[in-house]
Amino acid sequence: MDLEHYFSANYPQARGKFLQLCQDRGFAIQSYQNERAQAPDGSNLYMDLATLGRKDARRLLVLFSGTHGVEGYCGSGIQAALVGESVFADCDPDLRVALVHAVNPYGFAHDRRVNEDNIDLNRNFLDFANEVPTDNGYGDIHAYLVPQAWEGELRTQADAALKQYAKDNGPAALQHAASGGQYTHNDGVFYGGAAPSWSAQTVLALVKELAAGASRACFIDFHTGLGPYGYGEMIAAGTSAQVARTFEFYAGYEVTDPDAGTSASAPIQGTMAHGVERVLPAVKTQFLALEYGTVSLQEVMTAVRADNWLYQAGTVDSVLGKKIKRQIRDAFYCDETKWKDMVYERALDVVQATMRNLEQV
Ligand SMILES: [Zn+2]
Repeated sequence: MDLEHYFSANYPQARGKFLQLCQDRGFAIQSYQNERAQAPDGSNLYMDLATLGRKDARRLLVLFSGTHGVEGYCGSGIQAALVGESVFADCDPDLRVALVHAVNPYGFAHDRRVNEDNIDLNRNFLDFANEVPTDNGYGDIHAYLVPQAWEGELRTQADAALKQYAKDNGPAALQHAASGGQYTHNDGVFYGGAAPSWSAQTVLALVKELAAGASRACFIDFHTGLGPYGYGEMIAAGTSAQVARTFEFYAGYEVTDPDAGTSASAPIQGTMAHGVERVLPAVKTQFLALEYGTVSLQEVMTAVRADNWLYQAGTVDSVLGKKIKRQIRDAFYCDETKWKDMVYERALDVVQATMRNLEQV
């Protein structure tokens, strides 16, 4: 099957393809403009919602792309292919299908993992009025993750200090401290923010609307950057109740749990899974992060650090800036036919299993 044409080279192209395919297949479309940011060429940015099925359906399936901006090359391609290949054409009339395209349109358009305020959206779904974020030790390594200069002696020293931290505490502790989510350094990496972002507010508002008639809701969010090349790890995200539901729902599949140490991901707080559970107290929710491997963890972390440094202290429109932009895109998207075939085949299998199992609950 030729899937190449569903994947795109940039955000406007991805958005155009997605909207056209959804329109052709009879989806209803709603667009939400992020007025706080613009694309590099000054054009507007949108999160788009495409829905199929009755508004009062008891079952809901929601597929997200681009929560982590640049990871949207993968998720958008998958969404476009699922729609283009008519995967939702004959689904159960009591199932509503919703596709949310480009949760973080700024990050997608600028090839960044974070949003317009340097926020990692999948750490931003805390209840900021009531929850106190846990300190995973990020403060101990912030200065090394974000050195003052990206090239030369300061960078060499920073990398050596991170290596030493991993040696003293173990590589899992380093990954947890760096990527578990931090709420103290707004110029740092994996920053969860101090208030709900535009994306978080928009997602939770539209999810509430989508689930108005639902008693059961399955969410799948497409991510990239962790695990073996092209493999889609099924990560059970969210609260312990959500995780238990996900394991039961996907019996027969290999599902992982970051809190139990079985995932390529460190345990994280304030995820989108936690957010949807909070706003849908009457709905049984479950949340799967389908996480596709790209390059090594070391290369991914280096690309995230470099991109952070670039926007804090560098010049995007410079030789080094362009090199860093290329590096982060390549760290989260393998622009290769084999990889695209692998990610789509896995997504198709998981989405079809989800629709089948939803009919039984
Ligand atoms: Zn991600």
